[in-house]
Amino acid sequence: MESFDPNRVTVRSAHFIGGRYIDGGPSAIDVQRPSDGVTYAGLPVADADLVDQAVQDSWSAFKHSDWARCAPRDRARILRRWADLIEADVETLAPLEAVGSTRPIRDAAGWDVPFTAEGIRFYAELADKIGGEVAATRNDHLGMTIAEPYGVIGSIVPWNFPLVTSSWKVGPALAAGNAMVLKPSEMTPFSILRMAELAIEAGIPAGIFNVVQGDGRTTGDALCRHPRIAKVTFTGSTRTGAAIMAACAESGTKAVTLELGGKSPQVVFADVHDLERTARTVARAITTNAGQVCVAGSRLIVQRSIADRFIERLTAIVAELKAGNTWKPDTTLCPIISSREMERIDGIVQRSAAQGARIVTGGQCLSMGNGGGFYQPTILSDVDQRMEAVKNEIFGPVLTVQTFDDEEEAQALADHPDYGLAAGVHTADIGRALRLARGIEAGTLWINRYGRTADFVIPTGGYKRSGIGKDLGRQAYEANLRIKSVLVDFSQEMPQ
Ligand code: NAD
Repeated sequence: MESFDPNRVTVRSAHFIGGRYIDGGPSAIDVQRPSDGVTYAGLPVADADLVDQAVQDSWSAFKHSDWARCAPRDRARILRRWADLIEADVETLAPLEAVGSTRPIRDAAGWDVPFTAEGIRFYAELADKIGGEVAATRNDHLGMTIAEPYGVIGSIVPWNFPLVTSSWKVGPALAAGNAMVLKPSEMTPFSILRMAELAIEAGIPAGIFNVVQGDGRTTGDALCRHPRIAKVTFTGSTRTGAAIMAACAESGTKAVTLELGGKSPQVVFADVHDLERTARTVARAITTNAGQVCVAGSRLIVQRSIADRFIERLTAIVAELKAGNTWKPDTTLCPIISSREMERIDGIVQRSAAQGARIVTGGQCLSMGNGGGFYQPTILSDVDQRMEAVKNEIFGPVLTVQTFDDEEEAQALADHPDYGLAAGVHTADIGRALRLARGIEAGTLWINRYGRTADFVIPTGGYKRSGIGKDLGRQAYEANLRIKSVLVDFSQEMPQ
């Protein structure tokens, strides 16, 4: 897609409840474009009363529309239409996504929008294929399970892939017959409104998908604590995930799905078939979206015998990246979401350097002369497990490098004490790859690749403090259903 003029992208700053935009009071939050720091809209914050209105509206739609009751194939047909509309709307949706987020227009148009549509299609296909089970427990008894929707599911999503992460929540929830109230990040609140509008056009009943705007402390917390919310599905930081879990526990022992932070290792052995391909895979895993990816491969663990050669290639590869505005089609290094995040990332790098880490390349903010925030792709060597840069999620284009001599040492370095979201293993030895795949404590293990392309069938989700439950796959669909057991006795026996 061509470049676009950011000043010509108009946004509607509102909530979306009951099939229409609700203006919802004065603007309380300035929404900025990360590419140039310009405040391009204000955002209203839904208070507990407005959240209540949105949830009650969804509950009423769940109870009184046909959505939960209709044949699953009818829901599937409408969801497929929604996916088609999203895909066909790329000319509107992609600039909306790109203008206020970190997603360059080429990626937003070529990946985010089609991937969002494809995710919804995947769950439409599952809608009439996964149900309950019937089991004849005895000749004169019948047992069955019925898979039922929860009712209204609350969803809270982050800023880093606004459309895609939302689709991973709303797709399975609606396919399973639920209604959803979703709160986007206050930093990237607008593209999802267009998706909600298209849901109505596709024939999804008004109220089945509502969107409330606001910050976490006011709007997010009120959504989690609402008594009509039966489950909360969240993607975001580990700290917020813990707060959400506590709010859900305190307000009614609600079910949660939590997709949280990570500090994922990429283990590279000297025997890799193609060093250049591996170096490019490793570089991409930490520079895509400028490292602002939950599964960013942020810890390189490389066999000592190839370490120098490998780091040299990595340094050359990251130097090829072109920092630029999200509205330019040739941008390959996107901005950092906010100046606060820039300062946080740079703080970690500078403190690590002061503690003895060596900055192999990068290590500085990149000025584009326009108020936007960019950070140089950065490689830190001479680090150890106790350093902040190795322990904490940086969420920026910063790769730490550690070396090992044998498989045992690689495994010990790869395991993180807290996080377990993903890991990559690069080796030509399949036995070793599988040993590490079993050995490393992480929810996703990539062998000789890193990152997701279009594997909707394969779920994603973390071990340890990286999360609870899964997005994607059949597992995410099932997590939006409750199981009721029904037991029938057709004997004429008198109870003893
Ligand atoms: P964040 O936790 O700061 O915010 C995420 C969302 O939670 C936002 O909508 C925010 O308004 C809301 N929120 C904040 N406090 C809240 C509270 N007390 N109650 C309810 N809602 C609250 O995360 P972020 O900075 O937007 O996103 C970056 C983080 O998300 C990183 O840690 C990243 O690893 C993680 N992430 C994880 C995945 C995954 O699939 N595991 C995917 C993307 C991002």
